[in-house]
Amino acid sequence: MEKNDTIEYSENLISYTRKQLVDKVQEKLDDKRFQHCLRVEKQAMELANENNVDPEKAAIAGLLHDYAKQRSDHDFIKVINDKQMNPVLLDYGNAIWHGVVGAELIKDELHIYDEDILNAVRRHTVGAAYMTKLDQIVYMADYIEPGRDFPGVDKARQITHESLKKGVFFQTQQTLSYLVENAKPIYPGTIATYNAWQNEK
Ligand code: GDP
Ligand code: FE
Ligand code: FE
Repeated sequence: MEKNDTIEYSENLISYTRKQLVDKVQEKLDDKRFQHCLRVEKQAMELANENNVDPEKAAIAGLLHDYAKQRSDHDFIKVINDKQMNPVLLDYGNAIWHGVVGAELIKDELHIYDEDILNAVRRHTVGAAYMTKLDQIVYMADYIEPGRDFPGVDKARQITHESLKKGVFFQTQQTLSYLVENAKPIYPGTIATYNAWQNEK
């Protein structure tokens, strides 16, 4: 995907052109991760159009979702401490921090304060008991973007296009299974998401 083959912003949600925001994201990521962000941007717009959500918000949140993915543990720990965020976060690592804490770096460095966008970034890895449609879109776009290749991804795509909510449960179940299978620690928010979305199977 080229840098310019998508929308120009028209809603004044942020004080950048798309090109300016793309450059800000590219600056902080290696090419592989940056290309993933461009694919999530596009996938989020598609899901937004399918679900009557503002595609411009979805595009911005999708582009930004992994903005902080390549920061050092030191940087995240400093933000958690400086902002007196939940100390439970300190028991986890980059996998959890880049969304939950990464949203704070988006605020501080990019001066983007739209809470809908920030929440979608915060919730993109672990989800939440309550998720807006925008949150659900970014969570699912990250999981099914065309560069993803894992067993079950086609099923995930099919479910998500049929029902965004069913996609959310499916992803959460798959992620939890994977974490347990590999004896990884489970962030309490991940379990809260799984329990809250039980009606969507
Ligand atoms: P990415 O940033 O595009 O690679 O995708 P995500 O932000 O969705 O996920 C990042 C990583 O977090 C993945 O490897 C997930 O398996 C992992 N992850 C998700 N939930 C949890 C959790 O509760 N605990 C741990 N340890 N890892 C998690
Ligand atoms: Fe991520
Ligand atoms: Fe991602």
